[in-house]
Amino acid sequence: MAVKKAAPKAEKPDSLDAVVGHIEARTAAGRSTLAIFDLDGTLFDNRTRTIFILREISEQFDSKVPGLAAAFDRFQDLAVVDYSLETTLARMGVKHPAETAFIKAEWAKRFFSDEYQKYDMPIPGAKSYVCRVHRAGATVIYLTGRDVGRMLVGTTEVLRLYGFPVGVAGTMTIVKKEFEQSDELFKKEVSDYIDRLGEVAAVFENEPANSNILQARFPDAASFFVLTQHRPDAPRLAAGIHKIKDFRPPKGARR
Ligand SMILES: [Mg+2]
Repeated sequence: MAVKKAAPKAEKPDSLDAVVGHIEARTAAGRSTLAIFDLDGTLFDNRTRTIFILREISEQFDSKVPGLAAAFDRFQDLAVVDYSLETTLARMGVKHPAETAFIKAEWAKRFFSDEYQKYDMPIPGAKSYVCRVHRAGATVIYLTGRDVGRMLVGTTEVLRLYGFPVGVAGTMTIVKKEFEQSDELFKKEVSDYIDRLGEVAAVFENEPANSNILQARFPDAASFFVLTQHRPDAPRLAAGIHKIKDFRPPKGARR
């Protein structure tokens, strides 16, 4: 008896361009595709938000934060901003524990709020790439660990401000109901819902843990890891995930 062979699977797209081509082909075939984009560290560089906030704290509380105020006597390179605020402050010469604790509290109030998200800077090429994916016919899903109570309005505002597709057909913003929920658990749970919506064509992340979870959950999707900042205690990135610096086309292809 002849053994029935499974139909060969279509090749997974292995580049940013190939993802767009794949989505176009699936759209032409009448299929629904999805592209999942994380925000912090994936589409946006948050270091500018932190620098802006620290600058504001140094001006508002000048005498209370002498170390920070002194740091702003010098020009600050964005490279000073680490994933950890404590490391950033140490690099800036803020050494007094009480000052550090005070700054951390003031920073957190601002960083996790609607008002300060506009100080994020889009990752190079991110806006035009998301627009291409959207135009190709995929539903763009912004899947972020930001929370609905404090950050949804600012998130929407910033996406619109920088020209990302948002609020229109073919887009979806999914945030956490509660800030306290772990990012990994949240993304795992939401994946079941996303799976029912259509074929996930591509996933974009900057946290190795999330990248690994999403790749395991959507093995047929192309998976991209943006080399920005991530948790220091992150696991190793699983095999088959493509590392990208940003969303710009490869050098030779740039107009
Ligand atoms: Mg992120």
